[in-house]
Amino acid sequence: MRITTHILLGWLLLVMPAAAWNGLGHRTVATLAWRQMNDAQRRAATELLKHHPHYKVILTVNVPDGVDQGEWAYLTAAVWPDLIKPAKAGQPAKPHSITRYNVYPHGINLPFVHSADAGRVSLADFVVPEPNAATGLSNSIVTLKDTTATPHDRAVSLAWVLHLMGDLHQPLHAATLVTPKQPKGTGLGGACTVRNERGKPINLHTYWDRLPGTNAGYADIMALADSVANAPELAPSRLPEYRLNQTPAAWARESFDHAVQFAYAEDHVKFVDTKAVESGSIRRSAIPTLSPEYVREAHEIMRRRIALAGQRLADVLTQVAW
Ligand SMILES: [Zn+2]
Repeated sequence: MRITTHILLGWLLLVMPAAAWNGLGHRTVATLAWRQMNDAQRRAATELLKHHPHYKVILTVNVPDGVDQGEWAYLTAAVWPDLIKPAKAGQPAKPHSITRYNVYPHGINLPFVHSADAGRVSLADFVVPEPNAATGLSNSIVTLKDTTATPHDRAVSLAWVLHLMGDLHQPLHAATLVTPKQPKGTGLGGACTVRNERGKPINLHTYWDRLPGTNAGYADIMALADSVANAPELAPSRLPEYRLNQTPAAWARESFDHAVQFAYAEDHVKFVDTKAVESGSIRRSAIPTLSPEYVREAHEIMRRRIALAGQRLADVLTQVAW
């Protein structure tokens, strides 16, 4: 059975598309924190992850040549919550021993309306669903820091902290557009289709998830981490929100503001309804293309969010009484 699970998971890891800041984005955030941890902290985190229930079947599968197994397990823990989601239609089923750990959503549906709908839509009765990425991150930080919790629970919580810190900083994980027809919101950007800079149709959520890049080899991770860490404008002292906002709820609100003021903003982007494209009621030729200004600013925001997520993750991990 163990061998079968190994083969199944190894295959899954190869074929599964990354969701949320992709593998590169999540591992880069984790790397930025790793670089601020001292040797004892790194060793303790690595030892703790050996108690993770999927250490052998996910975290240490496919360690790249020349990369330390402990470091790779840590970097893969940052992607692990994306690998334990139940299989989608057409994907091979995953065992309950894997999916039972899929306990937190990866986003938070904070509502907003476009100005054209202001006066037609009330948000008074909108209830933000719980749990969500912000409450999940809060809970996971508490358990990780609780040295009386079991090593199993702390290892699982460490993986959630590594992952949700990244997702909560992705603007498209924090805002849902509410329209007169959809008073409960339209999701987290999957309903909005644009063309990217290469002319390819893509929904806004996926566009933002892939902004860090799509090659997630070890060298790619180190290169993005270097580029963010060495950018003077991304030093924490240059980012006023770093000092102002110190809770997961506040970090979610920052992402929400980027989403509303830029990512979905009517004066920055035009998009069409994904379902209407799929059903053919909107012609594919009518899908608007992102402007070069949008593409440039989206990259800048992504880098700023990765820098902040990495620094805040470092703050958490260097304060744990390992
Ligand atoms: Zn995620």
